Amino acid sequence: MKKRIPAIKGTKDILPQEAKIWQAVEAVVKRVCELYGYKEIRTPVFEATELFEKGTGETSDIVIKEMYTFTDKGGRSLTLRPEYTPSVVRAIIDHRLNLKPDPLRFYFMGPMFRYDKPQKGRYRQFHQLDVEVFAEQDPAVDAELVEMADFLLEELKVADTETLVNSVGCKKCRPSYITKLRTQAQKEKQELCEDCQRKVLTNPLRIFDCKVETCQDVAKKFPMITEHLCQECEEHFKQFCAYLEFFGLEYRIEPRLVRGIDYYTKTTFEIVSAKLGAQDAILGGGRYDDMMKEFGGPDICGIGFAMGLERLLSVIPKTEKKEPFLYLAYLGKKAKKTGMLLSQFLRRKGVECLMEYREKSLKSQMSRANKLGASWVLIVGEDEVKKGKYQLKNMTTGQQEEKTQEDILEVIQKAS
Ligand SMILES: [Zn+2]
Ligand SMILES: [Zn+2]
Repeated sequence: MKKRIPAIKGTKDILPQEAKIWQAVEAVVKRVCELYGYKEIRTPVFEATELFEKGTGETSDIVIKEMYTFTDKGGRSLTLRPEYTPSVVRAIIDHRLNLKPDPLRFYFMGPMFRYDKPQKGRYRQFHQLDVEVFAEQDPAVDAELVEMADFLLEELKVADTETLVNSVGCKKCRPSYITKLRTQAQKEKQELCEDCQRKVLTNPLRIFDCKVETCQDVAKKFPMITEHLCQECEEHFKQFCAYLEFFGLEYRIEPRLVRGIDYYTKTTFEIVSAKLGAQDAILGGGRYDDMMKEFGGPDICGIGFAMGLERLLSVIPKTEKKEPFLYLAYLGKKAKKTGMLLSQFLRRKGVECLMEYREKSLKSQMSRANKLGASWVLIVGEDEVKKGKYQLKNMTTGQQEEKTQEDILEVIQKAS
């Protein structure tokens, strides 16, 4: 017996039936993103480790625990991207996209990697949609992005959503807030989980992210950032909320929404779905006005959101829609060749056509067609080959007619 080589722990195969659902979701995402002027960008799966360390902040848990980092044959430290924003920022800087006339609006869908403890619904290779817009300071764009996310979820038929918004301040106002927060957290350190006790020193903001109930109870009494914003941040936040209302969007201000990643400034937001439970956001994002500069790029601001596609797929209604297709059944060597040419003709005219080459009786081919849910069966036997006319069976109505090649095409095209 040869040894079986199983898939790597924490990875998942997307089999054809499920891939159909992915394709449908991706098509909706693409359409909606392009409606709002976003263009697709694709960057490499791996980058220099430094990029993500810088991007997510060295104190963030993603860097400490979850990056998929390895040394390549040239001795470079590389990391499979754990998130997308740093790659987009790098691409903008590398290609000087900010000097080109095109708007800096990008979207991306693809795999991300985190060396996480594998558990139900969480994978080491998972997929995200990422949407980013740069060089727009106006809070109207923050609101437009949330409005787009809202529309996207509506188009994807995600029900029972709630939009949460907050501001996390900026370089001017956040440090003094964090000092206050740290002082408070220090006092209650004993009540916090081990993880959060560490965060008191490294990044107390992240205590708000902790899913442990006692930590959440403690965090409820912490000072809120919305009460410590500088004038600029406060004004930005006020206008952002006003624009959301202007768009007719409902939202809730959630002062504890600080998001896990260090680079956020001003606006943060999440859309949660009742189906996922109150803790879990279906998408989340925010502003990162200083990031580009920190990467050695131009001083331009950015805002974006990311949505986990596995999580999204777990909440959308699964309507399996079969595409109509024709099953070509044949009997005999001559009929096989004619069948191959008929399939070629039909496929090139846009008709999905399946012909299988394991020799089988007509009866077993018919039952295959039935089982596979074919909309049509085209029967090609010796007689049909001689006549140049073939039996076309409509599997829905059961009606069977003799047709020429051209007629077959016409009948099928008319029906679809
Ligand atoms: Zn500020
Ligand atoms: Zn905790």
